[in-house]
Amino acid sequence: MENRNSSKNPLILDKVASLTTIRDIDIFEFSFMQTLADMLRVEDISFYKFNNHNEPCRLIRYISETESIGGREKTKETREVQIENITVPDLIKRAMDWIDSTGKLYSTKIDNEFVSIYPVHGLNKIVGYLSVAISHELSEHENLIISSLLSISQNFHGLLEENQKDKLTGLLNRKTFDDNISKIQNILATETPDSSSYSGDNNRIELSSDADEYWLTIIDIDFFKRINDSYGHVYGDEVLLMLSQVMKQNFRPHDLLFRFGGEEFVVIVKVNNQKEAKLSFERFRKSIEDFSFPQVGQVTISLGATLIMEQHAIASDIVGRADQALYHAKNNGRNKLFFYEDLIDSGIFEEKIDDGEIELF
Ligand code: GH3
Ligand code: MG
Ligand code: MG
Repeated sequence: MENRNSSKNPLILDKVASLTTIRDIDIFEFSFMQTLADMLRVEDISFYKFNNHNEPCRLIRYISETESIGGREKTKETREVQIENITVPDLIKRAMDWIDSTGKLYSTKIDNEFVSIYPVHGLNKIVGYLSVAISHELSEHENLIISSLLSISQNFHGLLEENQKDKLTGLLNRKTFDDNISKIQNILATETPDSSSYSGDNNRIELSSDADEYWLTIIDIDFFKRINDSYGHVYGDEVLLMLSQVMKQNFRPHDLLFRFGGEEFVVIVKVNNQKEAKLSFERFRKSIEDFSFPQVGQVTISLGATLIMEQHAIASDIVGRADQALYHAKNNGRNKLFFYEDLIDSGIFEEKIDDGEIELF
């Protein structure tokens, strides 16, 4: 006869195995919580994630309620993702202080529920807190399941996150760009005017604010080849690194910053209108113009920007429009920002109605 534990362990391994086949970080976070909820019959499980500025940037909540309808027990599952206006409850704040000072998990009993709060570690620091509410006190075996699953998941989550980053600059890499564009387009397609949270899907991105327009700019360093030729590749790389640091300081924590190619970058901001996008991109152009790079001195950048719209379904179309505005900046003295939309409005670009192609003249 099989004993209880040996029949449970293969189940855990199966679940871990299926979890680690996931490559999308958002889906992984959801599946991880669902796995825990399934295994332990958890009623309420919440994950508060914090960004590099220690602000709450994401709340994922999974609630399972059993109701009796007409004598029959029915389980209702709710999944919620919130990316803005996240309030961290006092209980979580208390747990954070406790974990900070003791390094131990925080457990308490509220009404009939036992709540345990675990730190979730990233590669170098705590990236969030997982709160698990359950109707009975956790057994040693259950505690072991949670901590084992957490440590495996943390390592895997860290790898997924590293995988999204460019090695030299730490910005998001090119591979992540297409994913983010399709997530933004899904949001544009489903967004209600003031929806700040939505549930049931995984189309969640880090951008956050009440604004509802997404503007993109491609940034290309001017005469970068000369920098390499005059000072060598190592100095060239140093310029890329410093530029990305100025970029991180210049934009807000929720803006998306990509290293798009060798000396090309992309920034996506969520703002109310083009004027705000212009202010943000122009401020960055000026910061680079004013920055003195060690040895190399002044470096300038050219920028081409455009609005991300739902109907432009292919990422390459959006990039194409920004690229044309960038090309215009390169041909008009460099160290400048141009918007595709302005070039259309002023008649410098002409939009062919029949096939949507742009003619430059
Ligand atoms: P423009 O103002 O027209 O953009 O001139 P440019 O010289 O910047 O443009 P071009 O595209 O001709 O040259 C880009 C150069 O960037 C070519 C390549 O050697 C260099 N480059 C690309 N990736 C890297 C990298 O990772 N490190 C270094 N050091 N150089 C790179
Ligand atoms: Mg280039
Ligand atoms: Mg260049």
